[in-house]
Order: sequence, then C-alpha cells, then structure tokens
Amino acid sequence: MQLIIEHLSKKYPNGVLALDDVSLTIPNGMYGLLGQNGAGKSTLMRTLATLQDADSGTAMLDNLDILNQKDAVRRVLGYLPQEFGVYPKVSATDLLDHFAILKGVTNSRERSELVTALLHRVNLYDVRKKAVSSYSGGMKQRFGIAQALIGNPKLIIVDEPTAGLDPGERNRFYNLLSEIGENVIVILSTHIVQDVMELCNNMAIIHKGKVLYSGSPLDSVAALKGKIWEKSITKSELPTYQQQYNIISNKLVAGKPLVHIFSETEPGNEFQPAQPDLEDVFFSTIEKSNFVAA
Ligand code: ADP
Repeated sequence: MQLIIEHLSKKYPNGVLALDDVSLTIPNGMYGLLGQNGAGKSTLMRTLATLQDADSGTAMLDNLDILNQKDAVRRVLGYLPQEFGVYPKVSATDLLDHFAILKGVTNSRERSELVTALLHRVNLYDVRKKAVSSYSGGMKQRFGIAQALIGNPKLIIVDEPTAGLDPGERNRFYNLLSEIGENVIVILSTHIVQDVMELCNNMAIIHKGKVLYSGSPLDSVAALKGKIWEKSITKSELPTYQQQYNIISNKLVAGKPLVHIFSETEPGNEFQPAQPDLEDVFFSTIEKSNFVAA
C-alpha cells in the first residue's frame, strides 16, 4: 500500500494558500506530518479524508483516486478528526454500535462482536457503559481510535491526536497507535515533535503549506550532527544572543535558558557541541525557510 500525493494545492476563499504544491510518498506504517499551528496539516488531512477538495494536484492510494473516488476511499478510510464535535450522552457501546451501522456493518451479531473487540482493543471495555461525554481527554481519543478502526481501514488519519493529553494519557495513546497493523498507512498530524519521535519511521515537515522535509526522522537528526551547539545563558543575555545568533530553540533548564544554535562551524563564545534531536531538526528547518523567505 502506498499513498502518492502530487502537486496538491489549496487556496481558501480568503486568499490563504493552505497547501502549496505538496508532493509526498507515504508508505505503510506510521507517518508523521509535523508542523506548527496553521501549517496546513488539517487541510491536508481533511482533503485525504475526502472531506474537502483541493484546487489542483492528485492523491492516489494505490490505484484509488482519493480526490475523485470518494465513496470507494471512504470504505477503506478511518478518520479521527481534530475536533470530534460534541459527544452525546450515550454510552461508548451504543455510540460505537451507531458508527458501525453508519459504516455498513448491518448484521447485529457481527456488530456486537466488533464493538466488544474494539472496546477491548482500546482498553475502554470496563467503562463501556459510561457516557462518552463524561470521558477524560485521553479516553475520548481512544474512543476516537476505536471508531476509526471500524471496518479494517487501510488508511487511517489522525489529526492532532495528542494535543491536550497529559503525559500518562499520551503514553497510553502512543501504545495504542503503535499496535495498529504494519500493513496499513497511519498518518499522524501533530505539532508535537515527541509524537513523531516516538511513533513514526517516516515523516514530513510542513510549514506555510509547503513541504520542507520528507524522509526518516533518524536520517534528519543524523544530518545535523556536528552542527548544533548549546549554551546555558542568563535570561538577561537572551535578547543579545537572539540578535547575534541563529537561535533555533531555547528552553529553560533549572530556570536558565539553554539555547541551541545552528552553525556549520564552531561558533566559539563557550558554545558546546550538542547532540541534535528532532526538535533541532524541526526548528532549524523552519528557521531556514523563514530566512530564505525573508
Ligand atoms: P494546521 O492544521 O496545520 O493548524 P490548517 O490546515 O488548519 O493548519 O490551516 C492552514 C491555514 O489555512 C491557516 O492559515 C488557516 O488559518 C487557514 N484556514 C484553514 N481553514 C480555513 C478555512 N476554512 N477558511 C479560510 N482559511 C482557513
């Protein structure tokens, strides 16, 4: 199974170019679509989920034309949207049953077995009789995965699934996602670098509608080896450093900013070589594109 997106563009009526000539080849497995808020991730996800049209370009899932064979695509699609909407005050069992009917599982015995199996799979069986509206954020997301898995989808799209989850819930969600079969395509859109790091063996970085990087997260990190430098400074020094250096990230460590900069050569000034990580990749890639655009 392979999803090939070519030259996909979308401009909203207000003039925002949300997708700007996006081309990606997405193999089986977990694929991370990493971008800041407003990058165009949801636009791409909704287009692939057949919920909105692009202006130009193509998206082929093997030989299924996603933009033109929407009904056929929906039969092999599982979608967990960013906003699941209002959860009604019905139990998880009843709501899953309802979704299964909508997905065409008409035999009631088969449906009941499916719902039970899904509730076990996402570890909500014990709370199956509780109203989904009363679930925590993490439980709602797991419920969302259960409904997305109805009908053994070949393409699963999850849009910003871990935003707002606490670390424990996020871990449970990671484990669940990583158990989904290897023979399906799972596209995970996120602005959280850790999501991609933990789950995905392929990824793209998207910014202002453009693909800035596509490939393996590990390769992208390896390519930065020897080019990331760090230094712990005081808060009052930060503005000077921001003017002087190309700071790609600064986070507080024990109350002091630890700045990371990108430099092909040793920057001096007591900067130490740092072990690059995916966050460095993400921020340096975006920084570079802003620099080029400026
Ligand atoms: P992301 O999911 O990465 O946050 P989106 O795809 O939601 O990004 O948005 C990309 C850009 O398109 C943003 O500038 C956003 O404001 C704009 N946008 C999204 N949806 C609409 C819409 N329905 N009408 C107009 N502009 C939109």
